[in-house]
Amino acid sequence: MNCEIITIGDELLIGQVVDTNSAWMAQQLNERGIALKQITSVHDDAEHITAALDEAFSRADIVLTTGGLGPTKDDITKKVLCDYFHTRLVPSKQVEEHVRELYKNRPDVLNRLTATQWLVPENCTILPNRVGSAPIMAFTLNSNLSSFNSKLSTLNSKLLISLPGVPHEMQIAMNEQVLPWLTEQLPDMALTIEHRTLLVSGIAESSLAIILDKWENALPDCLHLAYLPKDGTIRLRLSLYADSDKGDAKTILDAQWNQLKDLVADYLIIDEDLPLELVLGRLLLAKGQTISTAESCTGGRLAALLNAHSGSSAWYWGSVVAYDNSVKQNVLGVPAEVLEKHGAVSEETVRFMAEGVRKLTNTDFAIATSGVAGPTGGTPDKPVGTVWMAWATPVGTYAECFHLGSGCLEHSNMSSGCSDISREQITTRACTKALIQMLQILRKIG
Ligand code: ATP
Ligand code: MG
Repeated sequence: MNCEIITIGDELLIGQVVDTNSAWMAQQLNERGIALKQITSVHDDAEHITAALDEAFSRADIVLTTGGLGPTKDDITKKVLCDYFHTRLVPSKQVEEHVRELYKNRPDVLNRLTATQWLVPENCTILPNRVGSAPIMAFTLNSNLSSFNSKLSTLNSKLLISLPGVPHEMQIAMNEQVLPWLTEQLPDMALTIEHRTLLVSGIAESSLAIILDKWENALPDCLHLAYLPKDGTIRLRLSLYADSDKGDAKTILDAQWNQLKDLVADYLIIDEDLPLELVLGRLLLAKGQTISTAESCTGGRLAALLNAHSGSSAWYWGSVVAYDNSVKQNVLGVPAEVLEKHGAVSEETVRFMAEGVRKLTNTDFAIATSGVAGPTGGTPDKPVGTVWMAWATPVGTYAECFHLGSGCLEHSNMSSGCSDISREQITTRACTKALIQMLQILRKIG
């Protein structure tokens, strides 16, 4: 069963609102074995919406739309759907009662515009929108059966479901109405879909592709590999799309997944789609160990990552944001001579920072960062993107310098020499590197 999503709204096409609806819906549909062939965004224009519907129905059995259901003039989806399905708007008692109940304490909202919300296309099935006034409408294509309760296979028709644009309303409608119904259709129509993702670091995207070339070319049709570079790392996603009756699909996936892991073993960081800090937290928790951070150029971002997950207080104890040298000196104990002789961005300084915060917080491990995040402050010796890091551990302190500025990262589209890598990108990359190295060190020292 193929599905497509059309998100409707001018705001999506001027970059004012990011289309999170389709990402959320795609994830939910994939989990249930419903493959998506295309996601389209169109502006609030009848001609364009109609063309998008025609195109989507030429490929898909089910089309889901979001947006444009409000009572204001700019929201035209309901009217366009009426024309598309050759029907007219009629008042719906069911929707009227719902809207009156929804706004029973807000008489000011029950005006003539709101009243247009209970005008609905005559030949569609209305699904309850528990939290909003816009009716959720299900239409069948080329069929007089407006029955959302029948099996799609017996309807012998394609289906369109129009959902509200407001993400919270759309998600409730999907969870309570649309997904349960689709799941019922699935036994005879769903695909087996599974995505597995691993993370590699320390290799350029093009070099990785060369290593994988032969294996990738020999992949069976049901498997597809995607390269997803981010912050100096590369995620590799192996996706399986197979008919449900192909019982050996999972075995094929398992075998190819193991081969992929072997091929990238030298660069493999994790073989799950999990945030690095969570993997680090798991490892520390398993060993009953703790960590702290001393941050100069990353300015607390590492701390924010490490405490982003519930339960992190068991292994993450705290941070010193030591941006000014006086804090490095007075709080972390970096000697004045070290700062004077080697500078704040130096191996010596980050070693003292890491050891200082480890002692101060009494943790097993500590990470320190100090670098030139730019866009100003770079020198020929220490250009923008130079970041020194140290990892203090019970068996000694490790330190390393990274060059995270333009043209320095491992994936090819970053090595084009463009010079506008932002401060934000450099600090994000620094956090990623800091966590990856910490993981590697933990694994090495056991
Ligand atoms: P309403 O009845 O509230 O007007 P609606 O179905 O008409 O609902 P829209 O007016 O198109 O929805 O969008 C309402 C709000 O929902 C927008 O301001 C926008 O913030 C958000 N929104 C719309 N579409 C999307 C989308 N695809 N992804 C994320 N947010 C969206
Ligand atoms: Mg709109």
